[in-house]
Amino acid sequence: MVNLKKIPPVDEILLHEDVQGLLTRFNRDYVINLLRTAIDDIREELRSLQEEIERDAIKQEVIKRLQKKVEQSSRGTLEKVINGTGVVLHTNLGRAPMGERALNYMSAMAVNYNNLEMDLERGERGSRYVHVEEILTRLTGAEAALVVNNNAAAVMLGLNTMARDRQVIVSRGQLVEIGGAFRIPEVMKLSGAGLVEVGTTNKTYISDFAGVIAEETALLFTAHTSNYKIIGFSEEVKLSELVKLGQEHGIPVMQDLGSGILYNMEDWGLKDEPTVQECVAAGVDIITFSGDKLLGGPQAGIIVGRKKYIEAMKKNQLTRALRVDKLTIAALEATLLEYLEGKPEETIPVIRMLCRSSEQLQYQAEELLNDLQNRIGALPQVASLTLVDLEDMVGGGAYPTYKIPGFGVDIEFHDNALEKVARELRLGSPALVTRKQDDKMRISVRTLLKGDAELLVDLIAGVLSTDVGGWR
Ligand SMILES: *Cc1c(COP(=O)(O)O)cnc(C)c1O
Repeated sequence: MVNLKKIPPVDEILLHEDVQGLLTRFNRDYVINLLRTAIDDIREELRSLQEEIERDAIKQEVIKRLQKKVEQSSRGTLEKVINGTGVVLHTNLGRAPMGERALNYMSAMAVNYNNLEMDLERGERGSRYVHVEEILTRLTGAEAALVVNNNAAAVMLGLNTMARDRQVIVSRGQLVEIGGAFRIPEVMKLSGAGLVEVGTTNKTYISDFAGVIAEETALLFTAHTSNYKIIGFSEEVKLSELVKLGQEHGIPVMQDLGSGILYNMEDWGLKDEPTVQECVAAGVDIITFSGDKLLGGPQAGIIVGRKKYIEAMKKNQLTRALRVDKLTIAALEATLLEYLEGKPEETIPVIRMLCRSSEQLQYQAEELLNDLQNRIGALPQVASLTLVDLEDMVGGGAYPTYKIPGFGVDIEFHDNALEKVARELRLGSPALVTRKQDDKMRISVRTLLKGDAELLVDLIAGVLSTDVGGWR
């Protein structure tokens, strides 16, 4: 308790030259507020401390904490994360990292005025929805397209426009919850459409759909079950059968594709998922998918399909609430241009990561192992460093059962230090997020972006060489 009395008053600390330096860069109230929280923290810690501390040491510590708080506070709460997990579309890590072209186009449109809603040809008011519509129809073969805030919004808008106060038929096997508490049945209900569930969890036949078609049926609905897949004794209705049934009864078919790929990646071993183009060609009337999953662009909900339905959606008042901003439009258009030009495996980070060869990954993992050996191999906390082949994942609900072969490095620590080191790395700037495997830290190289490998070695070396914990 004797220590508490030694905490210097705010006014005294403000006179210190380091703090004066802060006051030239930031406003006084801001600095004083952070200073008070720094003092509060220290008071708490001193309360439970037995040993006696010098007054000057306390003062130094307050100033150090203040500087740290200023630095943290001016960083914002979003932090760059180095993704060492090997999960390419990691839902908790912001899903798809965007490409450079998207970034450049977006930033040019962000800091300048632009023709978001002006028809420059005629000098009149235009529509924000024209900007990506043409390129989307060219890429997918659909008649029309519309982009909203995210895929959940796209599903909601589609159902609300096409089936409000009427009925939608859907298989029980697809009434799933997708990460982030997106529940297909809940969203469907919120849209105002009545749900008619058919079939069972593991088996639904086209005859189940046909059996309940009625006057009130507005839509046949099918959804990608994302990270959920029934293996074994199961039966799904084929898309072609659903389309045929819809056509026979004059009822449109809507498909929530989830990830939605525009690029055929069979050559890289990613089979089983139809491309958006294939679904359009199969005759599906409305297809929705995300902008920031396998497409590799910004968060967005992309709707493609028949013009009459898309036009009705554009007129729906909900669209105003779900609309995208200029930054999304810019980033999405730049991303789509990469697909149009035909080299997404080189220019879209997500596609590039998924298309990397085993040889490339192994080579990069060997380099990482080498660098780690040189920097931390001899440190007392490090028990072993090993090159490993491992399994990466697409993530984002796509290819749920796919494990893609990858490479990485396992780090084993002495004295159960794994959790502590992993935590310190998560709290670093940038943060590093890794996997844990058999009590080792596992870093997959697939999801490392340019410059990440070097940074990561520095970060780990930094954490291992500073003694963490303690307040002095
Ligand atoms: C991810 C996903 C959604 C939600 O998409 P958001 O863009 O996150 O709103 C909806 N349906 C399916 C099948 C999905 O995989």
